[in-house]
Amino acid sequence: MKVLVLNCGSSSIKYQLLEMPAAELLAKGLIERIGEPEGYISQTVGGIKQQKTLPIADHGVGLREALSALTQGEGAPLADLDEIEAVGHRVVHGGEDFTGTVVIDEAVLDALRANVPLAPLHNPANILGIEVAQRTLPCATQVGVFDTAFHQTMPPHAYLYAIPKALYREDRVRRYGFHGTSHRFVTAAAAEALGRPVEALNLITCHLGNGASVAAIAGGRSIDTSMGLTPLEGLVMGTRSGDLDPALIFHIARAKGLSLDAVDKLLNKQSGLLGLSGQSNDCRVLEERAEAGDEDALLALEVFAYRLKKYIGAYSAALGRVDAVIFTAGIGENSPWVRAHACAGLEILGIKLDEAKNNTRGVVDISAAEATTRVLVLPTNEERLIAEDTYALAQKP
Ligand code: ADP
Repeated sequence: MKVLVLNCGSSSIKYQLLEMPAAELLAKGLIERIGEPEGYISQTVGGIKQQKTLPIADHGVGLREALSALTQGEGAPLADLDEIEAVGHRVVHGGEDFTGTVVIDEAVLDALRANVPLAPLHNPANILGIEVAQRTLPCATQVGVFDTAFHQTMPPHAYLYAIPKALYREDRVRRYGFHGTSHRFVTAAAAEALGRPVEALNLITCHLGNGASVAAIAGGRSIDTSMGLTPLEGLVMGTRSGDLDPALIFHIARAKGLSLDAVDKLLNKQSGLLGLSGQSNDCRVLEERAEAGDEDALLALEVFAYRLKKYIGAYSAALGRVDAVIFTAGIGENSPWVRAHACAGLEILGIKLDEAKNNTRGVVDISAAEATTRVLVLPTNEERLIAEDTYALAQKP
């Protein structure tokens, strides 16, 4: 069965075509700058990348461009669009309505629309992607995979904020957590790597990409995670501040005469590694500059690693026993410096890295022989998990 995985943002569409159940990647592509005078589309098939720029008026045009790229030209992975039997949509916010992957029907779409206030930037684009896919591929089963679903197992003492309870009852203001597909993927991968059933494992999973979050996983269930009502809370990220004193928002607004929207933008788009370094949101760039003696770049990375270390400590307390700490996503998979600094001094928790292993690309278990908590580097693959969920649901009558 051919499954299309779609990740629609406000001005972009990322997609992958997979042959299931083998999870063979047939094509992947990216459409950017939708709605701007000059859009961009790139597609990779069989290791060959093709790209072009053209105006892409809206998501409908974008998806049709992607689909025609899949059916035309030499080596096209599809002879006919009807071969796509199912579409798996990445949906950012499922609120409290979705604890797992679902086949999308009108009731699901209504629930997604009702959750728009919780994710005003992300959910409208996801809904648009679903509507466009329904129109363009009417015979395919449409499936929704939610970033929040995996964290719905959190207990109330972990998801409630200490604010008037009515805000939770009436407006569903609480911690939701994100990156759930990635945390779920590496949880399963860790169980496989350790050769133990997931039910027997307590894990701390660190998804460190442009967005970053940590989760405490007990017996395969998320019991706490660092992102909150929105993806702003928790770790330092590429351009997001992560945790801060909430009173700082009012202080900045008053001191600088900024609107709430301007502070929102400042904390989401101008903070994090970018804001601290004043240079870049890119960890690799900052590592190169720090290496060359740039103190601002070094300090930004130190704040990033220190915040992560505090979360590893906090989630060790939440879990009681930690079998493994997992590093994944762009920074987690590729930065020995961040891993070493986040784990430094955690011997009291049984965490100790083997320096040579940490510095060797491709080594999964980078912990020292005497460590009682394993530290693993595992590549994440959210698209694959979305395709697996979609395949599983599309097969049912
Ligand atoms: P996204 O959240 O956009 O999917 P990724 O998971 O691709 O992000 O992670 C992007 C981050 O990974 C960037 O900060 C990038 O610098 C970092 N990264 C990628 N490769 C390396 C590397 N070799 N060393 C350090 N950081 C890296």
